[in-house]
Amino acid sequence: MSDKIIIFDTTLRDGEQIPGASLTRFEKLEIAKQLEKLNVDVIEAGFPISSPGDLESVKEIAKAVKRPVIAGLCRAVKKDIDACRDALKPAKRGRIHTFIGTSDIHVKFITNTTREEVLRRSIEAVKLARNYCDDVEYSAMDAARTDFDYLCKIVEETIKAGATTINIPDSVGYSEPVEHGKLIHDLMNAVPNINKAIISVHCHNDLGMATANSLSAAMNGARQIECTINGLGERAGNAALEEIVMALKVRKDVYKLETNIKSEEIYKTSKLVSRYTGIPVQPNKAIVGHNAFAHASGIHQDAILKKESTFGIMTPSSIGITGHELVLTSRSGRHALSHRLSALGFKAEGEELNAIYTKFLVIADKKKEVFDEDLQALMETEGKKGFDAAYSLIDLYVATGIKITPTATVEIKINGKSFKAAGIGDGPVDATYKAINSLVKEDVTLLDYQLRSITGGKEALGEVSVRIKKGAIEVNGRGLSTDVIEASARAYLDALSKLARAKLSKV
Ligand SMILES: [Zn+2]
Repeated sequence: MSDKIIIFDTTLRDGEQIPGASLTRFEKLEIAKQLEKLNVDVIEAGFPISSPGDLESVKEIAKAVKRPVIAGLCRAVKKDIDACRDALKPAKRGRIHTFIGTSDIHVKFITNTTREEVLRRSIEAVKLARNYCDDVEYSAMDAARTDFDYLCKIVEETIKAGATTINIPDSVGYSEPVEHGKLIHDLMNAVPNINKAIISVHCHNDLGMATANSLSAAMNGARQIECTINGLGERAGNAALEEIVMALKVRKDVYKLETNIKSEEIYKTSKLVSRYTGIPVQPNKAIVGHNAFAHASGIHQDAILKKESTFGIMTPSSIGITGHELVLTSRSGRHALSHRLSALGFKAEGEELNAIYTKFLVIADKKKEVFDEDLQALMETEGKKGFDAAYSLIDLYVATGIKITPTATVEIKINGKSFKAAGIGDGPVDATYKAINSLVKEDVTLLDYQLRSITGGKEALGEVSVRIKKGAIEVNGRGLSTDVIEASARAYLDALSKLARAKLSKV
């Protein structure tokens, strides 16, 4: 058996199902391109039947991202499978991933039918998918709670029907590691044709076991692991890609398994996904959390200085953390900026480079020292968004204090024309948002507002993320500045621009 684990990333499908994490098509494409750099084997790009926007987005990714296999999800129903086929048409290597619930509780309450009928539909779905595509994955949803003999029958018959990958998910996060490993082990022994397909796992984290269950399955013969960046996903999330990959790498002595992942791209991917989804990474999150490599205790710091391996089991650079390296100042030219940007994986030329350079100078004037992290944040918040913003900030004046009513005057550009208004509020941000509201006239609800600093020091860049809602549409916005009120205004205008865009067409 091969010692290679296929990494199947489902950030854009399972991860995107979280309420409020909805991504624009541009953001999905940018994430897919970064997943390609990370060198994942399979990208599950979406669920094409769920909306015309999702179908288009899968198509766009299939067109632009050529190295990994691009998978689309579909229920074991003809119209779903057809939509998947349409979405995957431009793919160099496409995969139809079809699923149905196989546990008694799913058979009875979701499909409202019998085990025999679920078996029949599974075989039919796989056969239809194989007519369209050579690469077909079948998922027995809620496999961990499915009757074992029935699961064996399903696996055997769907492999006979042509499935090339069989997924044994713990869809509800109920399994524990020894049990999920044993399930894979027993299936490997009981199903006669099992070596004709790759066995996959897809574990949820409801009891915090997703990574452990996935690795236990791998030790027992599973060769594909489905996972997401930052462990995003329904409810408590999925197994985190970064945890799976680094566990296999750091403890190769135990697992004796490998992946194709370029681990140096992990940190950047994590940041990108967090920014685009608007979902921050918890500080103590394994591998990618802010504190993951911080040694606060004096004893640890002293030991680490003497020898890194005393407490550090992996280096920050192994996941691509470059540290607070001073790279540029306001005296740096366009060439130096473009050189540093390309080292960080960003491309900016001509007009775009000029625009970024102007923004860079503003930051450099205020901050004096510009770090890699500042540049990354600048590119990810102020770089190309894939569309022209409907609203942008021209000027902002705020007066605030303890005994006076906070007042803000804003000047913004709306579709090319400049408008001015003033507002008062409970605080300077509230006053600014009220002034913007009086010009934009969208009755939106502010669901979330978060402020964090990018690098340390008193001149640190502040990044504000907001999430707003109007009717059924929820969008995120981000803004960056050394001034937190300005960053707040920019984030709000970014979100309002996305909303305008979403109302025109499905983003
Ligand atoms: Zn899932």
